[in-house]
Amino acid sequence: MKIIKAEYPYSNYIIYGPYFHKKENRYYVYLIDKVTKKRSSTSYARYLKAIQLKRILGEKEQVDHRDGNCKNDTIENLQLLTHRDNIKKYLKQHDIRKTIIQLCCPNCEKLFLREKRNTFLSKHGTFTACSRHCAGIIRRHLQLGIKYSFANNIINYDYTYPEIIKT
Ligand SMILES: [Zn+2]
Repeated sequence: MKIIKAEYPYSNYIIYGPYFHKKENRYYVYLIDKVTKKRSSTSYARYLKAIQLKRILGEKEQVDHRDGNCKNDTIENLQLLTHRDNIKKYLKQHDIRKTIIQLCCPNCEKLFLREKRNTFLSKHGTFTACSRHCAGIIRRHLQLGIKYSFANNIINYDYTYPEIIKT
């Protein structure tokens, strides 16, 4: 296996790679901690950015390829983004204008996602339930005079699937 010179902050690791990961469509390096022998991997882009910044990147920090080509790991092409910035860039690039909202069903308290245009924020009403079934129960309860607080119905206004983007 090809070993590359480990630089700070990865000086305590033996680094193999970079290897192309077909499914992820990007390069990876494999790390072995010299002391604990623990194995891990990270994208080559993250590895390079960490060396440039001389620190291990935080979980919420993402390395974005400026030109959109995930195989182009030249340092000039790599920029650090927060997860949210990265999602925004992705949505813009792919012309996705849908706003996804995270909600909590007032009846069963299940968390679910829905496009904003399909929630009470865009339609008439005071709440959005997870299903017709739950909406029916709430409506019946309201008719019976049972009080609901819909304050916790909306969990997150600016929510997008975290699965959309991987570093
Ligand atoms: Zn429900």
